[in-house]
Amino acid sequence: EEKKSLNFIEQIIEEDLKANYKEEELKFRFPPEPNGYLHIGHASSICLNFGLGLKYNAPVNLRFDDTNPIKEESRYVEAIKKDVKWLGFKWAEECYASDYFQQLYDWAVEMIKNGDSYVDSQDSETIAQQKGTPNQPGKESPFRNRSTEENLALFEAMKNGETKEKEHVLRAKIDMTSSNMLMRDPVMYRCLHKAHHRTNNDWSIYPMYDWAHGESDFIEQISHSFCTLEFLPHRELYNWFISKVCKEGEFPPKQREFARRNLSHTVVSKRKLLKLVEEGIVESWDDPRMPTISGLRRRGYTPTSIRNFADSIGIGKRENRIDVAHLEFCAREDLNKTAPRVMGVLDALKVVITNYPKGEEEWLTAENNPEDENGGNREVPFSREIYIEKEDFREEANRKFFRLKLGKEVRLKNAYIIKAEKVVKDEAGNILEVHCTYDKESKSGSGTEASKRKVKGTLHWVSVKHAKQVEVRLYDRLFMVENPDGDKEKDFMSFVNPDSLQVIQAFVEPSLASALPGENFQFQRKGYFCVDPDSTPEKQVFNRTVTLRDTWKG
Ligand code: ATP
Ligand code: MG
Ligand code: MG
Repeated sequence: EEKKSLNFIEQIIEEDLKANYKEEELKFRFPPEPNGYLHIGHASSICLNFGLGLKYNAPVNLRFDDTNPIKEESRYVEAIKKDVKWLGFKWAEECYASDYFQQLYDWAVEMIKNGDSYVDSQDSETIAQQKGTPNQPGKESPFRNRSTEENLALFEAMKNGETKEKEHVLRAKIDMTSSNMLMRDPVMYRCLHKAHHRTNNDWSIYPMYDWAHGESDFIEQISHSFCTLEFLPHRELYNWFISKVCKEGEFPPKQREFARRNLSHTVVSKRKLLKLVEEGIVESWDDPRMPTISGLRRRGYTPTSIRNFADSIGIGKRENRIDVAHLEFCAREDLNKTAPRVMGVLDALKVVITNYPKGEEEWLTAENNPEDENGGNREVPFSREIYIEKEDFREEANRKFFRLKLGKEVRLKNAYIIKAEKVVKDEAGNILEVHCTYDKESKSGSGTEASKRKVKGTLHWVSVKHAKQVEVRLYDRLFMVENPDGDKEKDFMSFVNPDSLQVIQAFVEPSLASALPGENFQFQRKGYFCVDPDSTPEKQVFNRTVTLRDTWKG
């Protein structure tokens, strides 16, 4: 196997191992906030952290960063767990920042006692104003030098819900002149009289992200805490908070940053994805058009295809946007190896084989997957009337049209060579049927001379009598432009593609009757399709995952 060069995150770890870390001290985490479903950007972070866990045989925690009860819900926790599992990863421990609320509170009390934090009783606008600008020192709050007793009493009252929501905050006492604005006495706690999805009404104060995140890493003894680049300026604060609780000989986690990955023709932000759901642009978080893990799963993406996508785009230091065509490539690449081939006609045209005996049928052998030597065969029924695609027939066409035209032959996949003899039209001139004759001796695989006869063009088909009618959902890009966030004047919502979903009725071979939701197939010449959970015993629903490359090997 080709030895891949180390990415810069792996280099950091290798250097740490050479310096002062032991391999058994390595520990990572993936820390989602349960305020929405995971998207394809998260897949990069999941593959990074869990990938490192596998590489170094180190534990990886799944930590829910659940410090904001306003936006968080248990159903998001469940969805996130399902997605990480489905991607194929196992976490060492399932952790919640909310499990540390008491410890965080106790530490905050210690900090008050040590003169490292204070209760500020100004409103948030005033606090923001006093922060100043990067070139100008901020102004200290008039409450900055409250007595320890007063601070402790107020903080306890805040905790007990005895103060109003915006009356007080707890702030870290750091440096109002720091060149890092985040170090200018950041807020550690705010009062929120809101029920939390796990701690219910136990708390009336909730820790801010910067305070909770690093301390949670410290509690779990995470060695390397990887986050996205926007947290680079937070690193100083991360270290400062940890230094307040980390004692001599204890192990401070290390924050390092990597770049977000974005995808073209979509948005990867839970807030924006939520808006698409709330405004009814899509049906749900797992709508197959969504760039969520659950949407991609329902669309027919495999875990392997998503992991391969994340690995192939790698970890970088600069934010970039990956063409969605690359994600689609990864889907095809995996599905080509794994998806059984079947026949389905999306836009049916009836063909009558006039010299095939009326009322007869036969079952022909079809290979399930030429890419898989253990894929086996199945039987497909053939009879006098079949459906082919409308676009596969023309009365007249030039020599480059290697499909069916009057007076010419094509091969029906796994079956016979047919020749178009005449068309039957309605009064308006629409083609209702094509009448063909078949070459009896030309059956695929029969070994006869005629079966080896070369004709240009092989078509897929289904027997009318045996066909199953199904609903097929065809998808297009959710946004019409490559970067819906890229316009200064227009909101991303104005770029929504109004035609991202097309629902059609199709006919498929009867072997698909037993296909279950989530199963993937290649409809020959038409793309990869997957059974949607909306399917009922009466009506199956198929989602098109992606089209095929535009080449057809008959
Ligand atoms: P969003 O803006 O969609 O809410 P987030 O970063 O707030 O994203 P979190 O739940 O906090 O979402 O993310 C969990 C982890 O996934 C974090 O470490 C975060 O940095 C990482 N992550 C989120 N989006 C991306 C992305 N587009 N590319 C790479 N990593 C990401
Ligand atoms: Mg976040
Ligand atoms: Mg967020």
